[in-house]
Amino acid sequence: MFPFFDSRDRPLYNNSPVTAALTDYDIPSLEARLGGDGFLPSHASRLLKALYRGNGTIDVESLTPGKRLLARLTSDLPPRSSQLIARHVSADGTTKLLVGFADGNAVETVLMPSHREGVAAGCVSSQVGCAMGCDFCASTRGGLVRNLTAGEIVEQFLHLRAAAASAGRRVKTLVFMGMGEPLANFDNVVGAIGRISDRRLGALGRRQITVSTVGLVPGIDKLAEADLNVHLALSLHAPDDATRERLVPPNRRYPVADIMAAARRFRARSGRVPTIEYCMLAGVNDSDEQAEMLAGLMDGFRAHVNLIPYNAIGPDVSGACYRRPEETRMQRFVGILRERGVVAHFRATRGDDVSAACGQLRETLASQPTASS
Ligand code: SAH
Repeated sequence: MFPFFDSRDRPLYNNSPVTAALTDYDIPSLEARLGGDGFLPSHASRLLKALYRGNGTIDVESLTPGKRLLARLTSDLPPRSSQLIARHVSADGTTKLLVGFADGNAVETVLMPSHREGVAAGCVSSQVGCAMGCDFCASTRGGLVRNLTAGEIVEQFLHLRAAAASAGRRVKTLVFMGMGEPLANFDNVVGAIGRISDRRLGALGRRQITVSTVGLVPGIDKLAEADLNVHLALSLHAPDDATRERLVPPNRRYPVADIMAAARRFRARSGRVPTIEYCMLAGVNDSDEQAEMLAGLMDGFRAHVNLIPYNAIGPDVSGACYRRPEETRMQRFVGILRERGVVAHFRATRGDDVSAACGQLRETLASQPTASS
C-alpha cells in the first residue's frame, strides 16, 4: 500500500524539510522560548508534561487555561513532527514500528514485551541509515542519510510508550540498538536521554537506558565523562583484529585492545559493567579458539557477554552470505566461555517474522510496496 522508498532507497513521500516540534525542547529551552514570545515561562513545564503524558499528543481540554497559548504555539510548533507509518506485530508480541519524519525518511523502533507481565523493552534508532559499514547489518547498506534530532529520538520513545500502553504494558528499559551509531550522533542522543529520563517528562531511569556502540573510542570516553549513569553495550563480534576488521570496518581505526581499554575506563568512571555484544556467524567468529580469545579479553573484567544468533539479511554489504551457526556449535562456544568463568547468555531472537534485526523492516517495506500495516 505504501512504497516509501524508490529503488535507490530514496524516500518517496513528503519531502519537506525537518520541522520543529515541541519534542525539540526540554523545560529550560521552552521556558526561554515562551518568555521571548511574551508568554509566562511557567507554561513550559505544563505543556511538556502534557505532551509526555499524552505520549506525543496533547489533550487540550486538560490544559485550561493554557488553550490560547497552545493554539498560538502549536500553529508553528506542533506537538511532534513524526507519524507512525507502519506497525507490525509478530507472533511473540514483538511490535515493530516504522516512524516517518517530516522529510520523508523513516526509522525502525521496536517494542519487545518482557517475560514479566506489564512491562516491555524499547529499542530506538539514532540515525537514518548508518556509516559504519558492518558487513552483516542491514542498516548500513545505503550508508548514512542523516542524524536524527534529539526530538526525533524522543518521539520514537513516545510512539513506543503509546504502543506499550495499548498492549497493557509500560516501557521499562530502552536500548539504542536500532538503526545508526549513537556515539556518531552524540549530542542529540545525550539530549534525548536528558528528556527521556527527566522525572517530569519521560521519567525513565537512566539505569534503564543502554547505549550500544560499534566501538568509537572517543565517544565511549565522552559518554563516560558525561556521567549520565547509562549502561554501555559494546558490539565486539570478534576477539581478534583480523576477523573484526572484516566484520566491523571502524576496527581499523579503533582496534580491539583500544576498545577494551575504553570499556575499562567506562567501567572505572561509571561503576557500570559494559555488556559485550557478539553476533554469531558460522565459520567466521564461532571457533573454539575465538571463544578462548574472547574469554581472555574478559579476564578480570567481569563483563557480561550477550551472544546474538545471526539474523539472516541475505547477501551482505561485501556480497558475503553469512549463516547462523548450528545449535551445537553455539552451545560449545558458550560452554567454553562459561568454563572460563565468563557470564554469557544468548539473546533470545525476537520477532523474526517481523524482520526484527537492524534495518530489516525498512528494507522489507522498500522491496515490497504492497506490504500491509
Ligand atoms: N551501531 C550500534 C547500534 C546498532 S546495532 C552498534 O553497533 O552497537 C545493534 C546490535 O544489533 C549490534 O550488536 C549489531 O551487531 C546487531 N545486529 C545487526 N545486524 C544484525 C543481524 N543481521 N543479526 C543479528 N544481530 C545484528
